Amino acid sequence: KKSDSVVNFGRKSAGRLLPAVSTRDNKARRGRSLLLAGSHNYPGAGVLAARAALRMGSGYVILAQPNIAVSSLENPDFLLCDLNDKRWEELKFDAILVGPGFGVNEFTASVIRRLKELQFEKVILDADALTVCAQENLFPLPRTWIVTPHTGELARCLKVTSEDIDQDREHFVKLAQEKFQCVVLLKGHGTLIRRSARTYKILSGNSALAKAGTGDVLAGMITALRAQGLRPARAALLGAYLHGACADLWVAKGRDSLSLMASDVIEILPEVIHRVR
Ligand code: AMP
Ligand code: MG
Repeated sequence: KKSDSVVNFGRKSAGRLLPAVSTRDNKARRGRSLLLAGSHNYPGAGVLAARAALRMGSGYVILAQPNIAVSSLENPDFLLCDLNDKRWEELKFDAILVGPGFGVNEFTASVIRRLKELQFEKVILDADALTVCAQENLFPLPRTWIVTPHTGELARCLKVTSEDIDQDREHFVKLAQEKFQCVVLLKGHGTLIRRSARTYKILSGNSALAKAGTGDVLAGMITALRAQGLRPARAALLGAYLHGACADLWVAKGRDSLSLMASDVIEILPEVIHRVR
């Protein structure tokens, strides 16, 4: 059946989706990203996602945590918010990311429940947020949301094993989309993205990305694209393509696959965007 065939997503498709730049742009028009990411135990996850969102074009980035453990002097490019002093609902934002390094706890669950209640449209859930959704049975999610599980996280959400998923990734991404209702991005070798009735395969990326923190970078990039107004599946597709292309360019420049760090993805992203445009 046509609806079951997988559509490849490569460089040409990416070039068409890239946000246009205009001389009249200002920071508000380039979108405000709110990142509920990182924590005392994992401060790096939030910083990586924030820096990635900025490089992906978001005009404002706010990193928010309870008891925020990030230094503003060392991170002058984005705003910091301590959620003990201010409620996240009071912040001004276009798109929100919840999850990377944020903690599997009742607060994370309450944020997701509230976003569902508010029917807020531009939401990206990753990492701990997905574990919470699995534990608290928060599926299905609004159709405009994006989830970005790796194999282990998807296995937890579907109550199967990672080995099951590895045997038929196309089947499980479809199953996940039916259960979650939102856009599903299944990470790993051959990233798959499923929105209602169509699966896409990302034609970029390599195992240089097998390093802690690269998923946090991807989540920040996709959030920035949603904040800039890209529709959900398009934000997921473009973000995943560019993220993979960063690893491909790294290797093409003669740098070894073993050595890539999550920060390197952020550093090389401007050149990748420029080449795709
Ligand atoms: P996470 O597991 O959340 O840190 O995300 C890891 C990121 O690296 C995802 O974007 C994966 O698609 C990517 N990645 C990890 N291993 C590979 C691989 N062997 N080939 C291609 N991409 C990979
Ligand atoms: Mg991750």
